[in-house]
Amino acid sequence: MKMPICDLCLRSNTLCKRCEKKLREKKITELDIEMARTLYAIDRRYGIGNVTFKKSFESDGLIVMMVGKGDVGNIVGKRGKIIRILKRKFNKKIRVIEETDNIKELVAEIISPARVMGMNIIYPVSGSAINKIRIDETSKDKMPADVSVIEDIVKRIIKKDIKIVLE
Ligand SMILES: [Zn+2]
Repeated sequence: MKMPICDLCLRSNTLCKRCEKKLREKKITELDIEMARTLYAIDRRYGIGNVTFKKSFESDGLIVMMVGKGDVGNIVGKRGKIIRILKRKFNKKIRVIEETDNIKELVAEIISPARVMGMNIIYPVSGSAINKIRIDETSKDKMPADVSVIEDIVKRIIKKDIKIVLE
């Protein structure tokens, strides 16, 4: 498994100097550490496979986990077994997604099975252009969280401002 903290730190409750530094410099978060240790424990018990866990983002009841290419299935587990354990442990909704540069794809993965209708660029009077993503309003009840929560998480993932609207 490829994790944001080292093997030693996965197995213990303390952090080595190097991992501690990553936390201090905000390259990783407390949530990343807890998630990595939880995945490690689940792997020892059930075997998740050689997956990569990159980062996690949390906002008001929703956690988005970013994993390596092709690793979503293994982390969700057979019939959602692994994801159910994680949901219970963190008591939050959890979405597992692959890292992508495509903003539309990213939003689509997070809100699935709700649907993205399209994306266009808006130009505010001042400031730089913003991507506006349109979500099918008739599918909004299938979203894992409110628009504002999704917007907040996506902004932190891509480190850019975006706007999400229902239409
Ligand atoms: Zn370490």
